[in-house]
Amino acid sequence: MKYIGAHVSAAGGVENAPVNANKIFAQGFAVFTKNQRQWKAKPLTEKNIAAFKERCSRFGFDPQKVLAHDSYLINLGHPDEDAWEKSKHAFIDELTRCRQLGIGMLNFHPGSTLKKISEERCVERIANSLNLAHEAVPGVITVVENTAGQGSNMGYTFEHIRAIIDGVNDPSRMGVCIDTCHAFAAGYDLASARGYDKTWSHFDDVIGFSFLKGMHLNDSKKGLGSRVDRHASIGKGEIGLDAFQRIMEDTRMDNIPMILETPDNAIWAEEIALLKGFCY
Ligand SMILES: [Zn+2]
Ligand SMILES: [Zn+2]
Repeated sequence: MKYIGAHVSAAGGVENAPVNANKIFAQGFAVFTKNQRQWKAKPLTEKNIAAFKERCSRFGFDPQKVLAHDSYLINLGHPDEDAWEKSKHAFIDELTRCRQLGIGMLNFHPGSTLKKISEERCVERIANSLNLAHEAVPGVITVVENTAGQGSNMGYTFEHIRAIIDGVNDPSRMGVCIDTCHAFAAGYDLASARGYDKTWSHFDDVIGFSFLKGMHLNDSKKGLGSRVDRHASIGKGEIGLDAFQRIMEDTRMDNIPMILETPDNAIWAEEIALLKGFCY
């Protein structure tokens, strides 16, 4: 089975996320456990935590399959010491919030060189940050997402992701989330049948399917290899509907959250129904 869902709103409290996911007939969901554009957040209260857990159970969501997403401000590979420290602390706080909520996975973007350090040095800093975080907070898997390679963002090749995993002391704490739009924009041709097979066999060679803990299902407004991250609704972009049907029929992606981050949340229920239809 595939846990198809979307990155739902947590407006008014993280405990509203399972309610919002249930409204669109999702089988899984992603969520920010704090405002993604701010460093500081109020700690979760016992009330938030209890309501989140109760609603997950009421609507049939396994919190271990929930993919939290960290703040956009965090850069675990930051070249400057003070900003790096700030990012590491914020990341540990994100992991702590997941742990409190019983959420099994925290999705993050690898980091960025800001064109001040080499990619190798940036990978080292990312891995160091992860080692620190893994020691600080047990139990939550950190799930690194591939990127489109905009600006100086790391993680646009499977090799970058492999290098990060290789730098981590406990790889059992690591997972990978493949965003279809990011992969396509980075030059991985998921659109054609041949490109699809090639991309995933390369993924398996370099990273391995055992690390695949989630996917972001987004079509792409921009072309193959554009290095520009612009999500489109399913079937309305350059990747096209066939590719999403292939993914739904592909058992290598079973038992993981498959999360829409498509721009029109008014049609998420339809998109989920469409994708579910391909599974049977
Ligand atoms: Zn994504
Ligand atoms: Zn994106």
